[in-house]
Amino acid sequence: MRMILVGPPGAGKGTQAARLVEQFRIPHISSGDMFRAEVKSGSELGKQLDHHMKSGGLVPDDVTIPIVLKRITSPDCANGFLLDGFPRTRPQAEALDREMTKAGVALSAVVLIEVPDSLLEERAVLRRSDPETGTIYHLKYNPPPEAIIPRLVHRADDTKEAVDKRIAKYHSETAPIIPFYSEKGILKKVDGVGDPNAITERIKAVLNS
Ligand code: ADP
Ligand code: ADP
Repeated sequence: MRMILVGPPGAGKGTQAARLVEQFRIPHISSGDMFRAEVKSGSELGKQLDHHMKSGGLVPDDVTIPIVLKRITSPDCANGFLLDGFPRTRPQAEALDREMTKAGVALSAVVLIEVPDSLLEERAVLRRSDPETGTIYHLKYNPPPEAIIPRLVHRADDTKEAVDKRIAKYHSETAPIIPFYSEKGILKKVDGVGDPNAITERIKAVLNS
């Protein structure tokens, strides 16, 4: 299984990815998680990434593409992977396509998680993550246990201003990759509103169809 999860910020990509990789036993490759780890390391590259990320902008393609392509060509991805948050621009989608053609492998599916803009801001602003387990919580829709609240992380780009900018970037930069995959006949659309368990079932159903 070589699949991509696409959707606006807050659509539930990370939440669904965690469930799907457990079932399919493939690595979860989140470009956002990779970039946040680099920022945390304090490296020069991390400082560059932070500059783009915290305001809600995109990391430039010439930085993003080599990092992610290198990751998917590592040995643990030989039997598949789930990409979450990449590709996010048309040049990224084309670069991925070239890399996969070169490797003689094909994408199994691109799953688009659809959520109306009006729900996204609240989803992202009240998102919290547990740095110890990687679990994604939501203060209203998936409340964390009381005892771990002090250690939870609120992302620097989960402010109203940065989220609004990310939603706008999604429409201008990322939405153009949808026709690219639709023309290839591998795009599967899933309604991302409702109980997360129901959404996992919807994704599994389209993957089997
Ligand atoms: P993405 O990776 O697409 O940005 P996340 O999976 O991190 O999205 O989810 C964003 C926030 O919304 C998190 O706080 C998560 O707990 C919450 N969330 C995820 N799926 C749902 C859902 N189906 N309904 C309500 N809230 C959700
Ligand atoms: P979300 O889960 O809210 O959609 P991510 O964790 O995927 O957000 O990404 C967080 C930020 O990291 C993005 O707003 C962007 O600045 C940067 N980023 C992640 N993936 C990419 C990518 N493929 N191209 C450019 N920037 C990216």
